[in-house]
Amino acid sequence: MREHHSVYLDGTWLPSTSTETIEVLDPARDEVIATVPAGTDEDVDRAVRAAQAALPGWRTTAPARRAAYLEALADQLDAHAEEIARTVTDELGCPVGFSRAVQAGLPRQVARSYAELAATHPFEERIGNSHVFHEPVGVVGAITPWNYPLHQIVAKVAPALAAGCTVVVKPAENTPLVALLLARLVDAAGLPAGVFNLVTGLGPVAGEALARHPGVDLVSFTGSTRVGRHIGALAGGEVKRVALELGGKSANVILPGADLTKAVKIGVANVMANSGQTCSAWTRMLVPAEHHEEAVRLATAAVAKYVPGDPRDETVRVGPVVSHAQRDRVRGYIERGVSEGARLVAGGPQAPEGLDRGCYVRPTLFTDVEPDMVIAQEEIFGPVLSLLRYQDTEDALRIANDSRYGLSGAVWSEDQAEAVAFARRMRTGQVDVNGGRFNPLAPFGGYKQSGVGRELGPHGLAEYLHTQSLQL
Ligand code: NAP
Ligand code: MG
Repeated sequence: MREHHSVYLDGTWLPSTSTETIEVLDPARDEVIATVPAGTDEDVDRAVRAAQAALPGWRTTAPARRAAYLEALADQLDAHAEEIARTVTDELGCPVGFSRAVQAGLPRQVARSYAELAATHPFEERIGNSHVFHEPVGVVGAITPWNYPLHQIVAKVAPALAAGCTVVVKPAENTPLVALLLARLVDAAGLPAGVFNLVTGLGPVAGEALARHPGVDLVSFTGSTRVGRHIGALAGGEVKRVALELGGKSANVILPGADLTKAVKIGVANVMANSGQTCSAWTRMLVPAEHHEEAVRLATAAVAKYVPGDPRDETVRVGPVVSHAQRDRVRGYIERGVSEGARLVAGGPQAPEGLDRGCYVRPTLFTDVEPDMVIAQEEIFGPVLSLLRYQDTEDALRIANDSRYGLSGAVWSEDQAEAVAFARRMRTGQVDVNGGRFNPLAPFGGYKQSGVGRELGPHGLAEYLHTQSLQL
């Protein structure tokens, strides 16, 4: 077991002022693998002051030079990809192949994309008699969750640094190890002191201190809608900028005539990836009533292929969920679905066979799910898929949009134009049409209670900029 005692600020590792620690769990083996400091208000204050001190130098560093630093960071991420993947598998429990491809792969792509954007983004423009400068917002407080723990940090830090902002990160308490690894890589990349700072700690203590700190100009949060609402209120009270990436309950709409076999198979894979712990997961599958029984048969067969097991085994496709609390929460939703009258056709609330130890949940499929059931409305964040039937296309649209969330979604049709027209009527931030690939440069973010603001690509960069216009 490894004990960490330091926070990373002003370009060095300093002992935390805390006497409390956080235990990091390996949810597959159900063992504590490390401890990290439960950072204090004082740690956060020191980190914010380091970020403030570094701001004048960093904001006036030429964008091409900032791009070169981001390239150096991306090189470090590339060189340590396997260590990143292993670390995320240890503390989150996701299968190591998925860790390599997504947990390490995505932040590598995103860091590289912002190196390029920093070098090429037009940070000034002429509008009539005005010269408009796009300036960094200032000091960014980044508060991140555990489900894509490195990606969610890099999706904030890389555009913030590209924009000329400096950053303090408070990672999720469940997954601080990959965040500490990132701080080591930032250090190795030689970024100027104070540009990137990291304080591990608990949400209501270190997270809250960061969100409230008067030296923070923008709070960027990813996590639950419950905490996001609180952060938004805090930021509003101080008239600070805020960006919120929150939950989802996305609809996968399979239109009549679509390739049902393909759509169901990809739909199931989308939910089972990362044990269902994906904010943009398509956790509601909408099928035409006349194809319902066939969809059930196909989905049952697809779910059966996800046999939970040791995430370090290269053949395993689904690992545990992140923690005991998350396991119990997800199992509680499965019990809720049964008691609401949905039909359980695969999985269930018991531990998977042979896996009494560890935070495992059975991949679960419900059919006969009604749109107003709790399991069709609330974000479960586990390997649980609900199948809903619809009568006609208008009914499908109404069900798809009947959600307080609007993060993501999918549409399948044999007619691409019909699929696009349907997608355009979905009140949600991004829609994959007939299996369109994830694009790390496309704006990512939510409608409704899924959030405020956009991440990734040029739209993500714009979040960290504000404008000054000079009338000439
Ligand atoms: P969360 O409580 O919203 O945590 C997200 C981040 O906010 C963590 O770093 C957390 O710290 C911090 N935090 C918590 N309370 C805070 C406060 N009062 N002030 C400032 N920061 C605070 O989410 P969670 O507990 O990790 O997961 C709960 C549920 O949220 C999940 O079951 C899932 O439904 C949803 N979720 C959604 C996403 C998403 O991407 N949309 C991601 C993760 C979770 P701690 O780690 O110390 O709690
Ligand atoms: Mg929490």
